[in-house]
Amino acid sequence: MKVIISGAGIGGLALAQGLHHAGHEVVVFERGTLPEGPSGYRLRLDSRAVAVLRRLLPPELWTALLASGVGAGAIQRLGYHDQHLRFLAEDRREDFDVLMIGRGPLRRMLAHGIVDRVRWSTTVASYDVGPESVSVTLSDGTVEHGDLVVSAEGVHSPLRVQLLGDAGYRSTGSIAVSGRVPGRPTDLGLPVMDEALRLGYLLASGPHELGMFLAVHDPSAGPSIDPAAVGPVAPDLEDAYLTWGLIGPESDMPTGDDAALRHGVEQLVASWHPEFGRLPGLSDPASVQRYGITAATEVPIWPTTAVTVLGDAVHAVPPSGGIGASTAIRDAGHLVEAISATSGRAELLRALHSYEQTMRGYADQVVADSVKPLHWQHQLASPAVHTVATGVLAGAQGLRRLVRR
Ligand SMILES: Cc1cc2nc3c(=O)[nH]c(=O)nc-3n(C[C@H](O)[C@H](O)[C@H](O)COP(=O)(O)OP(=O)(O)OC[C@H]3O[C@@H](n4cnc5c(N)ncnc54)[C@H](O)[C@@H]3O)c2cc1C
Repeated sequence: MKVIISGAGIGGLALAQGLHHAGHEVVVFERGTLPEGPSGYRLRLDSRAVAVLRRLLPPELWTALLASGVGAGAIQRLGYHDQHLRFLAEDRREDFDVLMIGRGPLRRMLAHGIVDRVRWSTTVASYDVGPESVSVTLSDGTVEHGDLVVSAEGVHSPLRVQLLGDAGYRSTGSIAVSGRVPGRPTDLGLPVMDEALRLGYLLASGPHELGMFLAVHDPSAGPSIDPAAVGPVAPDLEDAYLTWGLIGPESDMPTGDDAALRHGVEQLVASWHPEFGRLPGLSDPASVQRYGITAATEVPIWPTTAVTVLGDAVHAVPPSGGIGASTAIRDAGHLVEAISATSGRAELLRALHSYEQTMRGYADQVVADSVKPLHWQHQLASPAVHTVATGVLAGAQGLRRLVRR
């Protein structure tokens, strides 16, 4: 079977790996290029996504992937703090994060061995379903035929719009500005953050519905596998960095180029602990970006054809949940499983229908869970609640309940 995948992001590449190793012909179209060097943000992949990747990747690539990230022991908690960096509460979990890996290394690892199956800098414009085959038309007018087309283009997917008639997401009203600071907090003169980040992530709640998420990524400090166990594929190791993301209401968040964004964030956190205000200036200017937080509307039911859709293209997961990439990988795993052993169009359509039903079974819940962390900011926005919740440090359990509602 020949499968055309539109989009070499996380889900598209995971699918391509799985299908390629199952013996299918795969062609991936990607409008961008494969990033080199440090790029993007650190992703956390949950245990489900890691289990899928283990199944989809050949063993030597799997061990190299693990060696390119940080394993479970490095993150033991999510700590809630106020804007003065005072500890409020924490969320501890047994399997808190299984693999933390930069988006660049993850995509490079997922492209390993199939890089010649990807046509980079090539944009897919539309699809067409014929009686025997299906095709995509590229933006230069070229047509490519296959047996199945998978839209894996993330949010703003043109094929999703063609298939389902709408973009399938809404704005949450929140905007994020994020950046990455090269180095470890210890070396950067951020002692209070260093202490707070030692056991895991930090979520700081400020006034006016502002919240900042912080995480340190240091693959050399805690690789998830003994380097001696790594096979012939070399790990893709990044130098240590700290990522931050300030989320707030659209009307208050800065706009403009990276200098304007950094200046705007400095102003917004001016009354916070001074270490927050130092982050924009320490950041790699190229890493500073602003993006709207969008969330999928309910995944619709559609008549199955030889065109299907996975990942953010069908269920845009807001980054506040930290689970969108994991869910795209989960989709890819189900799709590979469903179509691997099919032959003929009728069987393929039955398999695709089964994949779509399975994906619908969890996607809406994943999106709903990912929107929840935005609610605590709205709840804390009321001056009375903010004062009580952040002032009464001994009442951490109260905040914890508040956060979880
Ligand atoms: C700051 C931030 C932090 C995040 N942290 C986490 C985290 O810790 N854990 C987690 O699980 N998730 C996280 N996410 C979410 C995660 O990045 C996304 O949910 C995930 O990348 C979705 O995967 P995807 O394959 O659906 O789409 P993408 O990874 O977005 O890939 C889509 C690809 O399709 C390409 N494309 C688009 N249109 C076309 C076209 N017409 N033709 C050809 N190619 C096209 C794009 O260039 C892109 O490469 C985070 C997101 C952000 C913004």
